[in-house]
Amino acid sequence: MRRIGNIVATILEKLRTEIKAGINTRQLDAITACELKKRGAKSSSKGYQGFPAHLCISVNDEVVHGIPGERVLREGDIVSLDMAASLNGFHADAAITVGVGEIRSQAEELLAATEGALGAGIGAARCGSHLGDISAEIQRYVEARGFSIIREYAGHGVGRELHEEPQVPNFGSSGEGCLLQPGMTLALEPMVAAGGWRTKVANDHWTVLTADGSLSAHFEHSIVITKGEPEILTQL
Ligand code: MG
Repeated sequence: MRRIGNIVATILEKLRTEIKAGINTRQLDAITACELKKRGAKSSSKGYQGFPAHLCISVNDEVVHGIPGERVLREGDIVSLDMAASLNGFHADAAITVGVGEIRSQAEELLAATEGALGAGIGAARCGSHLGDISAEIQRYVEARGFSIIREYAGHGVGRELHEEPQVPNFGSSGEGCLLQPGMTLALEPMVAAGGWRTKVANDHWTVLTADGSLSAHFEHSIVITKGEPEILTQL
């Protein structure tokens, strides 16, 4: 999992540098396919319940599961890249949201709140704590900044399968849920909206959008619980 985590992190950083006004999202998918192949890794998204691309790309009011295509990125857009891949039978899953050129201050704040919430959730992922401690910490961090946690999608266990038990909601109460134990591998992934938390699914049956059209951001890491600090597997 460390190896595939490193690969996912490396490719996401490469994509971050490729993002600029004028590029279309299919080109980012092609780069991902090429970089995965170079490293002998396989996209976990491609073919997952029929998903047609190597990663999910969700722009502005799209929350998650956007399909790369002909959409051309424009100055001021925010772009969420969610990549899951496998190597030797183990998966890793991570996401970043990137601004295209100059973005509005509200968008900057949304990105900072979402990335900060991921950090807060990771900070709560300690051996002997409960799953709900992670959920509560993420929710508290986001709501303190005036944003909403998307409720219909959650983090998850990750390992031999892309999605394993337990589900890791991004809202809840501390002290609830299972006890965290060394060796557990989890994908934490706050999805945050600038407006309300309700979502809808587009006609392509994949793309999830905020119901009110507000901006949304998404950051994710795969981590392993240890006896001390959690180890982040998808960080360079
Ligand atoms: Mg995930």
